[in-house]
Amino acid sequence: MSRAEVAGVSVSTDHFVDGERVPSPDRFEDRSPIDGRVLALVARGDAEIADRALEAARTAFPAWAALGPAGRGPYLRRLADLIDANVERLAAVECEDMAMLLRSLRARVIARGARNFRAYADLAEAYEERDWRSGGSWNRVTRMPAGPAVVITPWNAPFMLSTWKTAPALAAGCTVVLKPAEWSPLSCSLLADLATEAELPPGVLNVVQGIGEEVGAALVASPLARRTSFTGSPETGRSIGVAAARNLVPFTAELGGKSPLLVFEDADLDAAARKAAGQYDDAGQVCLAGTRLLVEESVRGEFLERFDRHADAHVLGDPRDDATTVSPLIHQRHLERVEGFVERARVAGDRIVRGGRRAARGGLWYEPTLVEPRSNDSEIVQREVFGPVLTFQTFAGETEAIELANSTPYGLAAIVYTGSAGRAERVGRAIRAGTVWVNSFLVRDLTAPFGGAGISGIGREGGDYALDFYSDLKTLQIAEGTTR
Ligand code: NAD
Repeated sequence: MSRAEVAGVSVSTDHFVDGERVPSPDRFEDRSPIDGRVLALVARGDAEIADRALEAARTAFPAWAALGPAGRGPYLRRLADLIDANVERLAAVECEDMAMLLRSLRARVIARGARNFRAYADLAEAYEERDWRSGGSWNRVTRMPAGPAVVITPWNAPFMLSTWKTAPALAAGCTVVLKPAEWSPLSCSLLADLATEAELPPGVLNVVQGIGEEVGAALVASPLARRTSFTGSPETGRSIGVAAARNLVPFTAELGGKSPLLVFEDADLDAAARKAAGQYDDAGQVCLAGTRLLVEESVRGEFLERFDRHADAHVLGDPRDDATTVSPLIHQRHLERVEGFVERARVAGDRIVRGGRRAARGGLWYEPTLVEPRSNDSEIVQREVFGPVLTFQTFAGETEAIELANSTPYGLAAIVYTGSAGRAERVGRAIRAGTVWVNSFLVRDLTAPFGGAGISGIGREGGDYALDFYSDLKTLQIAEGTTR
């Protein structure tokens, strides 16, 4: 059995299949973005472990499904309690592995994982079957758990995003094979330990480690998977969608974003500028980030003056320090990708207003960057950078604001700052996005649908939408007068 000591926490680096740790002779290096240190040599899964994990999930499925929501609830609530009891350990490991700010991991991000398990246990129990009479029959709609589900997650917020998908799958009665991303795999290994402690039956939750194109591709190609749930880039989403289609497996994809942050002249400009500069938090590695600043021309100067003040207050540093607001990027390859976008923008004639280079402190930090594009067609406006890089454009009036907001192939989210309730309604409805926040950001009721339009995703998660996805809906039709 292989383990690594990370931030004083002992983490298994093996797979977790059928309730047991499974070692692998092949390993990959997992490095910390903070200082490049090798944190762990992690099991590098292949088609064989993918099969083994899905077999375990298939074997465990009938008994888990038969428990019903009320029978599964206690397991999920125990797991939630254990997450809450282990916030410090989970946060410390996630911070070393992914470099998200330690204080936000401790204060909210990890606890959100616990909330996911509790909320879906409650929702599954609260489901009311539809029941009605028509044409001489009783009709009833019931949920049938779908079967083993493959869950594939990205490297940003790995623990939260994995629980976000695993919780509804388990609550709906599916068993799960989870594959976290290879750049930040450790917190999901801790989740497997907590599942054991919560006495989840063997095979109900399995975690396999490895490279996306290897074990990930094998999982999504397997006919044993009855659902595929993916969060990651649109490019990978396409190939996973093709694999799911081959097996006629329902598939949900939460993909990238290029969300607009609109500021109207009637807005609280300081609040808007603070939120705009806040998009550099977590080094901009947030799918929902409002990376296209669209500001009404009449308040351009006033907005930029305030934006500069808030952006200047950012502190690039070690994510374990309380003073830090901008952490390093996840990986050298990602730093080069972000840098490539800005360099191409510079060469193409876009104006770099702020930043535009690696930070002087070295390592994987990139300076918070603002680019004023020469045109709305610029690559930096049209493609997701996934780093601390924002663009700045102005508009004259609502019509142009909406046109610009809707002018990329993405449609994950939008943020609107306005003082007018009427405009909030009009603009909110006209923007093509899965979520529109008005004078707010990131707050969302867990029962509301979540997902993207355009190339930002297929399907919806959240609340009953997720529970329906992990179920096959059945119509049970019983003729009136059936007495025996
Ligand atoms: P990615 O697509 O490179 O990888 C995501 C996951 O897919 C990883 O676990 C990876 O190993 C796996 N994978 C890669 N190729 C695969 C294949 N052929 N078959 C099966 N699995 C495969 O994405 P990333 O770089 O890890 O994450 C960043 C992206 O995720 C950004 O585009 C970001 O916007 C998006 N994201 C979206 C949301 C959302 O809710 N919409 C949330 C977070 C991140």
